[in-house]
Amino acid sequence: MIAVVSRYPHLFSPLTISGIPLRNRVMMGSMHTGLEDRRRDYPKLAAYFAERARGGVGLIVTGGIAPNRSGWIAPFAGKLSARREVARHRLVTDAVHGEGGRIALQILHAGRYGYHPLIVAPSKLRAPINRFTPRELSASGVRRQVDDFVRCAELAREAGYDGVEIMGSEGYLINQFLVERTNRRDDEWGGTRERRARFALEIVRRTRERAGQPFMLIFRVSGLDLVAGGGTLDDLVWLMGQLEAAGVSLIDTGIGWHEARVPTIAGVVPRAAFSWVTSAIKSMTRLPVAATNRINDPVVAERLLASGMADLISMARPMLADPHWTNKAAAGLEDEINTCIACNQSCLDRVFKGKRASCLVNPRAGYETELVLVPVTAPRHIAVVGAGPAGLACAVSAAERGHRVTLFERNPEIGGQFCYAREVPGKEEFFETLRYFRARIEKLGVELRLGITADATMLRSAGFDAIVLASGVRARIPAIPGSDHPKAIPYPELLSGRRVAGSSVAIIGAGGIGFDVATYLTAPRAASYEVAVASFTAEWGIDREMRNPGGLAVPEPSTHGRKVWLLQRTQGRPGRTLGATTGWIHRRALEHRGVQMRGGLTYDRIDEAGLHLRSEAGAEVLAVDSVILCAGQEPVTELAAPLAEGQAEVHVIGGARLASELDAERAIREGTELAARL
Ligand code: FAD
Ligand code: NAP
Ligand code: SF4
Repeated sequence: MIAVVSRYPHLFSPLTISGIPLRNRVMMGSMHTGLEDRRRDYPKLAAYFAERARGGVGLIVTGGIAPNRSGWIAPFAGKLSARREVARHRLVTDAVHGEGGRIALQILHAGRYGYHPLIVAPSKLRAPINRFTPRELSASGVRRQVDDFVRCAELAREAGYDGVEIMGSEGYLINQFLVERTNRRDDEWGGTRERRARFALEIVRRTRERAGQPFMLIFRVSGLDLVAGGGTLDDLVWLMGQLEAAGVSLIDTGIGWHEARVPTIAGVVPRAAFSWVTSAIKSMTRLPVAATNRINDPVVAERLLASGMADLISMARPMLADPHWTNKAAAGLEDEINTCIACNQSCLDRVFKGKRASCLVNPRAGYETELVLVPVTAPRHIAVVGAGPAGLACAVSAAERGHRVTLFERNPEIGGQFCYAREVPGKEEFFETLRYFRARIEKLGVELRLGITADATMLRSAGFDAIVLASGVRARIPAIPGSDHPKAIPYPELLSGRRVAGSSVAIIGAGGIGFDVATYLTAPRAASYEVAVASFTAEWGIDREMRNPGGLAVPEPSTHGRKVWLLQRTQGRPGRTLGATTGWIHRRALEHRGVQMRGGLTYDRIDEAGLHLRSEAGAEVLAVDSVILCAGQEPVTELAAPLAEGQAEVHVIGGARLASELDAERAIREGTELAARL
């Protein structure tokens, strides 16, 4: 690959940390995959990291590994506390070093966030996001925890890691010691700022003593806790001085505790919206500092480095989405980067359910040894009908293997339902996925036939070896009298730009699309990036001066000027089907904007008066000006029967195969898996 690194001179300048040379400033941040938890999965973990090292990343940080059983994030999670566990880590470090990369092990003690009964914490205070209450550590128990951190670092060094990252943020054990919110002790480990920090500083000082040099000692510091009773700017300034003196060699930025009610990495967070925190940290220390959170693009990364706000750019999810992000940026192939869309669907949401992490836009992530696109020896001519996510994934993956592919799309552009999704505030990154597919189609020579509605006769007569039906879904028009009234607008029309009349709107259907439509109708629209960051900060109540404990401020009221109802027939409050790590953000944002959410309804009709409905309280009329229909989808399968009558091999994927519970994750995975088999 020819390097065009001059476009990103800062990103591609080397750096040496504690005697360890890094080839560039790209750091793959820590991300739990689930592969860390079982010995038998370490060959897969090694392949996963090796792929990222091959892709050019300078420094990798592993997912969190506990220093003992009490520090497990969940029962039997990854742990490094005994010599017999070293060999499996050797597989990982050898694989990464074999590709010219560097790797540090993250030591993470979950403290009161551990999801099991053995958990410990500075004080006996249950986390609001956990059902287990921690046991309060005795003073000697705290000392034993320090010993275990140091032992874990020693073993990491023995396993060939180039360093360790000590996890001091996100509300895990060290963070729990640091702040009054969770540390109510009055012994030598609590009571004053100095004593609350003693746990962190002892770990760092003793690890540095034992690990020696060359060895990176990264500390992930909580730049902004975003919880009541969290730290202040003064605390941070003081802590940075202490960490430097104790032997830290690189500071990684952490933003927000897991129990914080402010989004920190979801799509609603503008790109690099927390870089000002890293910048503040950088002004407090001589150590190199890594910027984090919602950085997924080389131009943004270069800007942060060039402005002196940071020394490295840490990206976790973008490396799942595209393991070759770094080499593509270096070679000037930015258009071919498969950009992380910050959806959390296949990575964090899956990890929260105890499943292996993968990626919505890259189903090979975490499955490098299982989902393999082997080059073909006998290429076939394949027709793909429909350029939605399923058809796009299938077409480019099949072409990547060497097949000749013709892709039919009846619309003038690719994307299918994604073209509606990208219009929703907070889903702007969906544009990037379509840009990526366009670039791949061109590069791989997929024959793209836009504006062509494929029919069975055409497909049969062209003599394709195989036909893939990826014709997707259409919006369901519910059988409510008046669904064709001028007040009623199916969501595709609204998201294609049709204006809503008046200022009061009812939304029928409160699934993912109903929530997105409510967001579309009520979210602030920013004229520039700076305004977007300011508006995000104001809406979510973030104190940029960091004077208040935890960096929290009073959220500013919303001013969208619409009255919106989000409705469903199912009993209970809408939003139960939303993603584990993003659902609360959607609900909270809409509540903040005054959207009324109601369940347990029967719709009678839509007419001039508005929407007539019934609930347990009786019949009523919502006197709305518009009714948006978001009542799910139905499969587009008209071609299935006529094609089945012919001789060609036919495959049906995505929404065309099954519309219920369809999402882009399934569509892209089905497309890729089929291409691997074709
Ligand atoms: P489709 O996207 O429906 O694509 C099918 C394509 O086939 C269309 O382009 C159609 O024009 C074409 N076609 C049909 N028949 C023919 C023919 N005969 N000839 C040529 N072309 C034809 N999913 C998520 O996972 N996460 C989200 O956050 C998310 N947000 C969403 C937000 C909104 C507002 C919407 C509307 C959807 C969202 N989705 C989301 C759902 C996601 O977009 C769909 O699950 C996905 O697009 C389905 O992919 P598909 O390829 O199966 O079908
Ligand atoms: P959905 O989640 O299945 O929701 C459909 C909604 O329509 C439900 O709230 C349902 O609620 C209602 N409904 C169904 N049939 C109806 C009828 N006949 N009359 C009136 N109401 C009816 O589907 P969706 O919102 O259309 O989303 C489609 C897919 O895209 C989903 O699978 C989702 O995962 C994905 N998506 C994901 C996101 C995300 O952020 N992750 C965002 C958007 C979409 P009641 O039956 O209770 O009325
Ligand atoms: Fe990014 Fe979504 Fe992939 Fe997670 S699943 S890495 S958030 S694109």
